[in-house]
Amino acid sequence: MAKTSKAWDKSNIVKTWGIYSAQNVGLKGEPFKLSRTKIDMFLECPLCFYLDRKLGIARPSMPSFTLNVAVDHLLKKEFDIHRANGKAHPMMEKYGLNMIPFSHPNMDQWRENFVGVQYLHPQTNFLVFGAVDDIWQSLGKGGKPGALSIVDYKATSKDGEIELEDTRWHNQYRRQMEIYQWLVRNNGFEVSDTGYFVYVNGKKDRAAFDGKLEFDVKILPYTGKSDWIDDVLIRAKKCLDSDTVPAQSPTCEHCEYRLEARKAYEKHIGKKK
Ligand code: SF4
Repeated sequence: MAKTSKAWDKSNIVKTWGIYSAQNVGLKGEPFKLSRTKIDMFLECPLCFYLDRKLGIARPSMPSFTLNVAVDHLLKKEFDIHRANGKAHPMMEKYGLNMIPFSHPNMDQWRENFVGVQYLHPQTNFLVFGAVDDIWQSLGKGGKPGALSIVDYKATSKDGEIELEDTRWHNQYRRQMEIYQWLVRNNGFEVSDTGYFVYVNGKKDRAAFDGKLEFDVKILPYTGKSDWIDDVLIRAKKCLDSDTVPAQSPTCEHCEYRLEARKAYEKHIGKKK
C-alpha cells in the first residue's frame, strides 16, 4: 500500500496567536507587537495585512532561503571577529569607510529574530520591532566614536554588477533599512541617514562547483528617509481598528485565483448535486 504523505499543517495558515484583538484597540489597550515585515505587508496589500493581523489567516508559508541564511550567518561571524577586536573590517578600508562594527551589550538581542530593536510608537501603541543584521559606527578625528549606520547583508546570484534597482524587492530593501534606522534612532542613538548593504553575488562563471560557491562582495551605500513611517503606522492602526475589510491589491493575482477557484469549485459541486 502506498504511504500517505505527512498531513498538511493547518496551523501554518490559521493562526491563533499574535493577532489584533479587542485588548489592543485604542491607545490605552495592550501594546500590539508589529514587525517591520508586517508593515511592509500593509503597504503591499492592506487586505492581506487585515487577514493576517486581525482575522488570523496567514499567507501560505514559503520555503526558507537556507543558502541566504547561511551567508548571513557567516558574514555575522566574520564581522563579529572585527567587532571583538574593535577594528575595521578590510572591506570598510577598501571602500574608504572610517568605521568599525559597533559594539554594544544589546547587539545579540537586536539581531535576534522576533526580538530585535523595539520601539513603542506612542501614536498607535504598536510595539514595532525588527532584527538588524549589523550596525557600524563612524569614527571621527582621533578615532572619536560618531554616528551609527544600519547595515543589511544581502545574498544573490546574478549576472553583471549588483546595483539597487527600482524593483519590488529593492524597494522592500529600502523600506527595511529605513525602518531599522527609525527604530535605532528612537532608542536614543545618533543614526546616520546613510546605511549600507553588504551585497554578495554568487559567481556562476566557474568551470565547476567543486563543493564551493564563490562570491563577489560589494558595499552599497543607501541614504534612507524615515519620514513616511509615522503616517503608515497610523493608517495601519486605523485599518485594524475598522470593521471594514480593505479592498484587495489590484496588482496581486493570488486573490483573484482564490476567488475564481472557489467559484469554479462551487459551480462544479452544484452540478453534481
Ligand atoms: S490581493 Fe494578494 S496580497 Fe492582497 S489579500 Fe489577496 S492574496 Fe493577499
